[in-house]
Amino acid sequence: MEQIRFDGKVAVITGAGGGLGKAYALLLASRGAKVVVNDLGGSFDGSGSDTTPAQQVVDEIKSAGGEAIASYDSVAEYESAQKIIATALDTYGKVDILINNAGILRDKSLVKMELDDYRMVMSVHLDGTFFCTKAAFPSMKEQNYGRIVSTASAAGLYGNFGQTNYGAAKMGIAGLMNCVAQEGGRYNIKANTIVPTAGTRLTFTVMPEDVISKVKPEFVAPLVGWLCSEGCEESGKMFSAGAGYFARAAVVEGAGVTFGGENEITIEMLIEKMDQIKSLDSAREYSSAMEQAGTVLSKMSGE
Ligand code: NAD
Repeated sequence: MEQIRFDGKVAVITGAGGGLGKAYALLLASRGAKVVVNDLGGSFDGSGSDTTPAQQVVDEIKSAGGEAIASYDSVAEYESAQKIIATALDTYGKVDILINNAGILRDKSLVKMELDDYRMVMSVHLDGTFFCTKAAFPSMKEQNYGRIVSTASAAGLYGNFGQTNYGAAKMGIAGLMNCVAQEGGRYNIKANTIVPTAGTRLTFTVMPEDVISKVKPEFVAPLVGWLCSEGCEESGKMFSAGAGYFARAAVVEGAGVTFGGENEITIEMLIEKMDQIKSLDSAREYSSAMEQAGTVLSKMSGE
């Protein structure tokens, strides 16, 4: 197979000073992309800032013969998110690829979680993804080309103790990308979501040290590379990756039950049919909310 390349393409990668983002930056730059390496450089809980991580990744890319520029702005406020995208537009004249990857953790049980822990995690993950996407979208639309990859988590898709803030933000990102995929469809802008697993500073508290070193961020990067590539036709999809495992994840809806002709639908009627309502045999995906609504309404008319 011909090697997938990114020559002439400009990529913005948030949170690329370490962990997964760094692996994406090195991969895309090694295959010809000009990369905006964004990273605020704070600690894993979102406090502080440091220009060193982003600069070091830029230096590494340049010393390998690639092209990159550092950006130290935070994704969490709209003005600074706009500056991240402006760095690409001012330096390289466009933005073709946006990888929303920046992230922090503030894990606590719901009872112990301070509102600040909730707001901060929502700001960096969900607001940050929205802000960067909103800032990049107009120029992608104008050039009729864009590849957006955003980062969800199994904590959002499946739930995890102590991560109500993070899980909500991460599932929100999947919903956001579903809608961006719809809006980008006409302009060759593809928007997808990944669900990664990797040994990084965000997982060092939950993964044993020997596992961390084996679950390399570099094992997630090929999926992101493919989703960013010109030939990728996928949009509005979710993919899991980690430790060499790759799979598509999806929201599905069962065939369900339709009551017809009754004047009243009671709780007891539902309970009687609960096995059928819960069944995911014959479950299907919907490509849009409109398609799902069409299916629901067609039941009413008995189609
Ligand atoms: P990481 O801490 O190594 O990387 C996150 C980077 O984001 C850091 O370099 C950090 O400085 C940067 N960052 C934080 N706040 C920022 C802000 N406001 N603006 C700009 N940059 C900011 O951790 P990672 O594991 O590589 O995480 C990358 C992404 O993957 C995150 O969104 C994370 O939630 C997600 N994720 C990771 C895993 C995993 O197993 N590692 C699992 C699920 C999801």
